[in-house]
Amino acid sequence: MHALPTLLAGNGRVITHDDRAPYLEDGCVAVRDGLIAAVGLTADLRRAYPGARFLDAQGRIILPGLINTHTHLYSALARGMALKDSVPGSFLQILERLWWKLDKALSLEDVYWSAMVGMADCIRNGVTTIFDHHASSNAVAGSLFRIAGAARLAGVRSCLCYEVSDRDGAQIAAQGIEENRAFLEHCKQSPDSRLRGLFGLHASFTLSRKTLARCREAAAEFDAGFHVHTAEAAYDVDQCLRQHRLRVVERWRDAGILGGKTLAAHCVHVDDREIDLLRESRTSVVHNPQSNMGNAVGCAPVLEMLRRGVRVGLGTDGYTAGMFASMQAAHLLHKHQSGDPSAAWAEPPRMLFRENAAIATECFGGTVGKLVPGAYADIIVVDYDPPTPMNAANLSSHVLFGLSGRSPVIVIIAGCVVMEDGKLLTIDEEEVMAKARAAAGEVWKRF
Ligand SMILES: [Zn+2]
Repeated sequence: MHALPTLLAGNGRVITHDDRAPYLEDGCVAVRDGLIAAVGLTADLRRAYPGARFLDAQGRIILPGLINTHTHLYSALARGMALKDSVPGSFLQILERLWWKLDKALSLEDVYWSAMVGMADCIRNGVTTIFDHHASSNAVAGSLFRIAGAARLAGVRSCLCYEVSDRDGAQIAAQGIEENRAFLEHCKQSPDSRLRGLFGLHASFTLSRKTLARCREAAAEFDAGFHVHTAEAAYDVDQCLRQHRLRVVERWRDAGILGGKTLAAHCVHVDDREIDLLRESRTSVVHNPQSNMGNAVGCAPVLEMLRRGVRVGLGTDGYTAGMFASMQAAHLLHKHQSGDPSAAWAEPPRMLFRENAAIATECFGGTVGKLVPGAYADIIVVDYDPPTPMNAANLSSHVLFGLSGRSPVIVIIAGCVVMEDGKLLTIDEEEVMAKARAAAGEVWKRF
């Protein structure tokens, strides 16, 4: 990377997510060489860095870039697409009639434009780090490299994987394994701190014992964790019990899939024993409340998991790019589900900020998701002027009810300004949307 000029983002209300000093009025963040150099009062840092470029937050909120720990960029071209079959009435039908048909219709070119649309959406929503889970079964080889190309251009910190599955036959499963392997090899060689890989698996019900063993063997070469849909719907559990006489998390344990680097998305249908297995193995769970409600698969027992020491992050499953919206959905879902209006005040902000930051920090090998010296300089400035007093004790309420639905005006990733004055600087949005619309038209015909 070229040397970047020293930057100050200041004159704002800074939410640091650093427990020692969570909030600063008239705060400022100094950025050098892609990292945070200092956090302090605007006047102090302007004196300390006299030659630095100053980005004026004008009293708005400065906070760490948001992290989405489970998404699917390949879903972008499906927006507004009509289904050709009758309306799906179950989780499996949603996959069969929509997502598994869409992924088959994508070319490598479609994968790229779909990723670019997703990256633009991320930046517009202040999401600076994503964990993507990709499928394009007729364009497997090279697909992660096309998404990585989009990520590099946009500047979004991205952890990618290809979802291996037996649903399209042995040959495509083998291609999926090879694509994960090739991309993990690339990440090992690449100096780019914004790109990482996990080993992608679709879900228990589309993976044979043999394929799973091959995935484990391939991942072991890189000491890589897995990114896998886990007990998302009751169907997955029923099928696992029928075929393997195990619940899904038990199957993952026996197959060597669990571990501190693994992301288990959903975990809606897990029992007490499985929660213990997730905690003991330090596996991270990713909660996707909007997707779970949308697919009517149930409510994941994530409050219980957090109480018992499981790391639980927050994702969107591609349902939206907005992490504030996902947090608000979690807040509402768990109150509604428990019948207790006092529930779920603390946990959704904790999942979005603390737990997602821990997951990203583990993956990217440097501090992500906190405004502290030495952390990656991923910073957003959100347009919110609080109408009531804001302080360290009531930040969560301001985030939950004030920031939700607001857009950032400045986005910085790894010290690069990728959005300023609400304009994307790394993406030609007009071109991307035109190319995406053209690609979508062809995808819809093939769908
Ligand atoms: Zn998913």
